[in-house]
Amino acid sequence: MKCPVCLNLSASEEEIENAPRLILKVNCFRCGEYKADASFLHSSPENPTPEEIAKASGWVYNNPGIILDEACWSQIASKNNPSVGEKSDLLLLYLTKKFPKPNQELAFQACGQELSCCYAIDKDEASYIFSRYLKDYKHYISNPQHGGQPFVISPAGWDHIHELSRINSDSKKAFCAMWFDDSVKPLWAKSISPAISELGYDPIRIDERQHNNKIDDEIITAIKKSRFILADFSGNRGGVYFEAGYALGLNIPVIWMVRKKDLKKIHFDNRQYNFLVWEPNNLADLKQKLKARIEATVGLPK
Ligand SMILES: [Zn+2]
Repeated sequence: MKCPVCLNLSASEEEIENAPRLILKVNCFRCGEYKADASFLHSSPENPTPEEIAKASGWVYNNPGIILDEACWSQIASKNNPSVGEKSDLLLLYLTKKFPKPNQELAFQACGQELSCCYAIDKDEASYIFSRYLKDYKHYISNPQHGGQPFVISPAGWDHIHELSRINSDSKKAFCAMWFDDSVKPLWAKSISPAISELGYDPIRIDERQHNNKIDDEIITAIKKSRFILADFSGNRGGVYFEAGYALGLNIPVIWMVRKKDLKKIHFDNRQYNFLVWEPNNLADLKQKLKARIEATVGLPK
C-alpha cells in the first residue's frame, strides 16, 4: 500500500480492529509503525509539498500510540516546523535509543526513520543535522579515530541527553504550595519569596482564597510549568499534599518544609522526605537554608 503520510509505496497494513470502527496498523519505512482509522487514510491532502510531507511524517513518528483520524490532518497543518536545534535534539534522542551503549559505533544512513524522527525533508537535510550541527558544531557526536567512520555519541552528547530528560529544565518558575494563614505570612515575605528570587527563579503563588475550579486549573498549569515545587506543610493543609503529590507524579522536584510545631502532624507516608524545619523567630536563617537546598536540588536557572 501507499503510506498516506509520506507516500512511500512499500508500506504494509494490517487490520487490528474491526468494530466499532476499522483500525489499521501501518508499517512504513519512513513514518514507522502507526495506527489509523479509515477516515485518516482516506483524507490525506492532495499533492503535498516535500515540506508538508516532512512535517506530517515527523509528527506521526513523534506521536506514537495515537490512533490517527481525520482531525489529525488539520492538527498537523497547524503546527510550526521545529527549529534546527529542536530537530537536532530529536535526532540525538533517536540515536541514543538505537545505540544505547556508550562508545557503541553508530551507523547513520540519512533515510527512513532517520528522516521522520527529526522532521527532515530529505537526505541532504538529515545529513546536515547529523554532520554539521550535531558533530561539527555541537560536538555531541565524534569519530574517535579522526576522519571517516565510525561515529560514537560523545560525553557532551550523553550529558545533553541527560539535560533533556530533566523536566522543565529551562523553566524559571517555582510553584509554592502553602497555607495562606496570617500566621505564616512572614514566611513568604522574609524567606520563601526572597530565597527563590535571589537565586534567579520566579516564585509563583496562587492564593487559596480564590479557590474554585478555575483556580484549580491554574494550579495544575502552574505546577506543570515549574522547574521545582516548594511545599510548606505548616497547618497540615490537604491542598499542599495534593500539589506536592501531583508534582512528584510528574517527576518535578519538591522542596519539603514545615514549621517545627507542625512536624509531628505530617502524614506518615511523607515523613520519609527530608523536611526543612523552620521556626517563626528565625526566618533569615531559613532563607539561607532554603537557597542552599534549592541550589543543591535543581541548581541555578539557565
Ligand atoms: Zn510513511
